[in-house]
Amino acid sequence: MERILIIEDEEAIAQLERDYLTLSGYEVVAESDGVAGRQQALTGEFDMILLDLMLPGEDGFSIMEAIRQKCEVPVMLISAKKDDIDKIRGLGLGADDYLTKPFSPSELVARVKAHIDRYKKLTTISSKDDTGNDDSEIRIREMLIKKPLHEVYVAGKKVTLTVREYELLLMLADKPGATITKEEIFESLWDKNSIGDIKTVAVHISRLRDKIEKDPASPEYIETVWGSGYRIKV
Ligand code: CA
Repeated sequence: MERILIIEDEEAIAQLERDYLTLSGYEVVAESDGVAGRQQALTGEFDMILLDLMLPGEDGFSIMEAIRQKCEVPVMLISAKKDDIDKIRGLGLGADDYLTKPFSPSELVARVKAHIDRYKKLTTISSKDDTGNDDSEIRIREMLIKKPLHEVYVAGKKVTLTVREYELLLMLADKPGATITKEEIFESLWDKNSIGDIKTVAVHISRLRDKIEKDPASPEYIETVWGSGYRIKV
């Protein structure tokens, strides 16, 4: 079942969206606050996101930006004011669509369905195109990364990684042998607004090692370059 995230602080609107989308066969998760909404949006577990612009905690513009740094999930902005639309257009935030309140629920459902169908088609085509393309797979000894599928195998066994662990591994594996500094990793995978600091990188490296290394204490894939960062052993 496709999952839709609603980030909306107006209870009545959120309820209306939830009711119509649930009736249309979608699984719906709703958040009424910008901070919680952003966290949900970045889990990568949704097929579409409906994003209100004016929210408590964090506004929709900055959530939109954070989503696009992570993934290409379809996002429909829900705006209360007419002048927001000019801002949306001007900012080029990468939203797929927008609706201005008040909107017709059937219009909403029709657009959601169109976006989800298009996105599914796109992702299917791109994984098909990438098969047989040498860039689509990275092999390092017993580790295999299938890029179009976002899958990682070690010694033939699939490893389950979070989006961030996967991106971290990919960042290193794209340049085997090259040292990537902690600063580069932090800047690339965590945005300025995120809670935490550079120590987060070491925490994630450690989690990643627990998942891909036979012996995380003496890693055969991710090597620490003391005082600098990490690299994939070649
Ligand atoms: Ca609002």
